[in-house]
Amino acid sequence: MSGGVLHGDIKKYFRDRLSAGNMVVYRLASPVEDEIALKTSPGQMPDDREGMVRLPDSEKVVSGPEVTTENPPASGISSMDMAGLRTAVAGCERCSLSSTRTNTVFGDGNPRARIVFVGEAPGRDEDLQGVPFVGRSGKLLDKILAAIGFTREDVFIANILKCRPPNNRDPQDVEVVACEEYLARQLQLIDPVVICALGRVAGQTLLKTKESLRVLREGIHHYNGIRLIVTYHPAALLRNPNFKRPTWEDMKLLKKICDEGAGD
Ligand code: SF4
Repeated sequence: MSGGVLHGDIKKYFRDRLSAGNMVVYRLASPVEDEIALKTSPGQMPDDREGMVRLPDSEKVVSGPEVTTENPPASGISSMDMAGLRTAVAGCERCSLSSTRTNTVFGDGNPRARIVFVGEAPGRDEDLQGVPFVGRSGKLLDKILAAIGFTREDVFIANILKCRPPNNRDPQDVEVVACEEYLARQLQLIDPVVICALGRVAGQTLLKTKESLRVLREGIHHYNGIRLIVTYHPAALLRNPNFKRPTWEDMKLLKKICDEGAGD
């Protein structure tokens, strides 16, 4: 097989997979070539933004899964460790937010935390610093943590999206779909006693529902076998102090679940 050129969606498709930091060999049935074999690795990304190296003929794979854009391969995220995930997120271009972010915001805290807080997406301060929940909302979250006897170092804090949506708009479905695998793997690795979703968007996304925040705040849910509660986002508390009392009730429940599950 001679060399060839990747076009349009196929090229983007491979670049997206590479952004996730995969080490893969593909044999691709292509509409523009009979066959294209590519070898990729995370280490190629910093020097080669296209990240694609055509294999010499001597290395061409002759068997293996045939890949088409209708039949995408596993991204590799589900087998990454935390360091690999962080690297993958730092170079991620799986959605268009990569072109407007200043920094990715991977998440912060104890990788063996009993409680993981999940917000919606980085805001302006988070985008600038690369750290979740800084600024006024972050300071309030620190106070909430202190009220139940925790510090930031005790818990893990992350967001549904790792990059800031322009003007802090709600995440779009396509962005959530592109990004949610990172959070799922983070939660799988941390394996906390309980997840606390901060706000409607985080609750709806994790629980795959369109229920209102009022409904979501009722009771204890489960995310992949991990207990999950939903409470107000700290930014909502800043806008409406009336949410402070119900949030305190939610935090007491969170602490109770955490304490009960400490021996799990
Ligand atoms: S929001 Fe998530 S999927 Fe989109 S570019 Fe950032 S890290 Fe990648």
